[in-house]
Amino acid sequence: MDGLPTLVNLVKQLQRVPYLASKNLHRVANHFLTMQPEQLEQFCRSLREAHDRLIKCPHCCAWQERNGSCIYCSSLKRDHGLICVVETWYDLNIIEKSGSYSGLYHVLGGALSPLDGIGPEDLSLNQLIKRIEGSCREVILAMNQTPEGEATSALIARALRNKETKITCLARGIPMGSTLEYLDRLTVCKALQERRIF
Ligand SMILES: [Zn+2]
Repeated sequence: MDGLPTLVNLVKQLQRVPYLASKNLHRVANHFLTMQPEQLEQFCRSLREAHDRLIKCPHCCAWQERNGSCIYCSSLKRDHGLICVVETWYDLNIIEKSGSYSGLYHVLGGALSPLDGIGPEDLSLNQLIKRIEGSCREVILAMNQTPEGEATSALIARALRNKETKITCLARGIPMGSTLEYLDRLTVCKALQERRIF
């Protein structure tokens, strides 16, 4: 791409987007370059608006509108005595889509991973402990069944061991080493229903 500094710069920006496979970078760049001007304008506007208008809920750390309230924490239809702890916001969506859960959530923002430099201080653990000191009767640990997820569950269980709150985790229907993101609805639904004491 010598002599095409603009294109080199675009690909460089795309390389900074996590989860975008490097083999797709040129395809994605091509897609943007062939967009209709108004389509491109709409895309950029939506991205800017989402960045400006969405914030993390101060309680559960899920996304909410800056001028609104958290759709989970403020819902009167949900069981406020139940908190399901997930690693990420997309894990929350997967549990929500299973249709088998109506309690509250807590989004940790990842899992412990010393190799990637992610320690307890990088996760919203203190907020979780504070919430549990309220009126929570059960915490469901729905971390991914990976070494990082298991280590995170163990840390939370240790932090809560002197509390009255019941601690459960998802049933073992979930294959070891898998992440919630790639499971079908029924497996997530069963895993939640057959959760066990952690
Ligand atoms: Zn919330």
